[in-house]
Amino acid sequence: MKIIVANWKMNPTHLVEAKALFNAVKKISSKKTEVIVCPPFLFLPVFPKIANIKLGGQNCFWENSGAYTGEISPLQLKNAGCEYVILGHSERRRHLSETDGVINKKVKAGLEAGLKVVLCVGEEERVGEFDLEARIVGGQLEGALDGVKKTQMRNVVIAYEPVWAIGTGVSDTPNQTLQAAIFIRKKIGEMFGRNIGQEQKVLYGGSVNSKNGKPFLQEEGIDGVLVGGASLNAGEFLKIIDLTRLPTGRMPAIN
Ligand code: PEP
Repeated sequence: MKIIVANWKMNPTHLVEAKALFNAVKKISSKKTEVIVCPPFLFLPVFPKIANIKLGGQNCFWENSGAYTGEISPLQLKNAGCEYVILGHSERRRHLSETDGVINKKVKAGLEAGLKVVLCVGEEERVGEFDLEARIVGGQLEGALDGVKKTQMRNVVIAYEPVWAIGTGVSDTPNQTLQAAIFIRKKIGEMFGRNIGQEQKVLYGGSVNSKNGKPFLQEEGIDGVLVGGASLNAGEFLKIIDLTRLPTGRMPAIN
């Protein structure tokens, strides 16, 4: 089953708009897709629990409660109806100076609280040398997943999001994303065992829309997409979900 994550980021600015967007998105009919909507925290308790949309947070802290002004805990997200949390998003790495060490604490806390984690990784710039880019992504995986238990890995989804492709209108090519996904599964295999690596769910994120999404969602080696900007337009987002109705190819082996 394909996974499609909507990252609303810090949008919309009013509850009325948020409700309208959610109500429009919940008209999805596809049963072949796991759809996860990640709105700003404020809107989470307002949205009804419905079978075809799962909720996720866009971040969380690494403690469940206490004197941490302004933070949201993984347990609070869980209790507000979230099944998922996005962690390590490049906008948080960039604007909030989140390091792999900080992300690691959050990943472990999120998993301990019973959330599934969408861990974002990706190189800042496309240098054009896969080894270099792979080293960056590999380092992010090692840092963010240090100390995670093998049994917890089934609750981790990796979103490969090359930073240069986020919000720029320029997406990666499906073929290069596939190479990245194969690399990620191999790396996870080295860290947690081959079977876990082969089973690892890997999404693509970066300027996905209904026009360019098809080859990503048709590719068996890419488990879905993380959509930012285009998820704020319900019609566009529903069209992206519809792309999962298309037949897929065969899953590539990790080596
Ligand atoms: C994102 O928010 O992670 C993202 C991929 O955004 P966009 O689709 O707008 O590039």
